[in-house]
Amino acid sequence: MEMHKKLKDNLKLLDLSTINDIFACEATKAMEENKSYIEYLNILVKAEIEAKIERSINYKIRNAKFPFIKTLESFDFNFQSCVDEKYIKELSLLSFIQKAENVLFLGPPGVGKTHLAIGIGLKACEQRIRTLFIPAELLINDLLIANFNKTIQETLEKYTRYPLLIIDELGFLPINKEAANLFFQFVSKKYEKTSIIITSNKSLNKWGDIFNDNVIASAIVDRLIHHSHIFRINGKSYRAKEKIEAENIEKNR
Ligand code: ADP
Ligand code: MG
Repeated sequence: MEMHKKLKDNLKLLDLSTINDIFACEATKAMEENKSYIEYLNILVKAEIEAKIERSINYKIRNAKFPFIKTLESFDFNFQSCVDEKYIKELSLLSFIQKAENVLFLGPPGVGKTHLAIGIGLKACEQRIRTLFIPAELLINDLLIANFNKTIQETLEKYTRYPLLIIDELGFLPINKEAANLFFQFVSKKYEKTSIIITSNKSLNKWGDIFNDNVIASAIVDRLIHHSHIFRINGKSYRAKEKIEAENIEKNR
């Protein structure tokens, strides 16, 4: 009993909480099943490693700040047939992040742009890749504040430390000249270094309107699309589909 308590204390000291939880039960099982010492130790170490990986994945998902959790597996590719399922599956293997390529989801509201971006983001977290989801408006504000505080370089560095950054809903609100310049600096800093996924309700030839400046818009687009995967989703809104279905259920009652 004394030894049991000492072992528990030492495992706690070493921060081996999973081994601490299971070693006694596994010891009984090992005796019953005639397992060798090595086998028993292997079981404990494997369980600790698996739990550590799971904790690290959960940590990555929490820190990514997804507004909701939607997986690629729950995306109905039959409903949105203009999205190439094979292409998305290939992207979900994440080699685009190693190559610092970008992904653009363009299309009207409700077609699943944010869902797909989060789905890929989750795959990155599962591979323990640092990921951040940020609404475009928040990013722009952050850049403006940093510029005002003369900390723009540090702020740009901060975003470059994420191998995958998801910028959601670019183009929802117009962006003034100062912000457009900062966004250009931001894209240049990340260019060919780390990946960005962008969702936008505006097609690329309308980005001049977003940035109120055709020259800066085309400089931004040039860098973004140089190494990129572009999905133009022009199908139906899934939200509208859900609404119609709900109304039909209501009518048939
Ligand atoms: P967008 O960002 O294009 O406006 P969202 O990704 O937010 O659209 O999608 C709106 C809602 O509809 C979300 O709850 C999303 O999970 C769901 N949705 C959209 N497209 C699909 C789809 N093809 N299969 C399953 N759910 C979808
Ligand atoms: Mg969206």
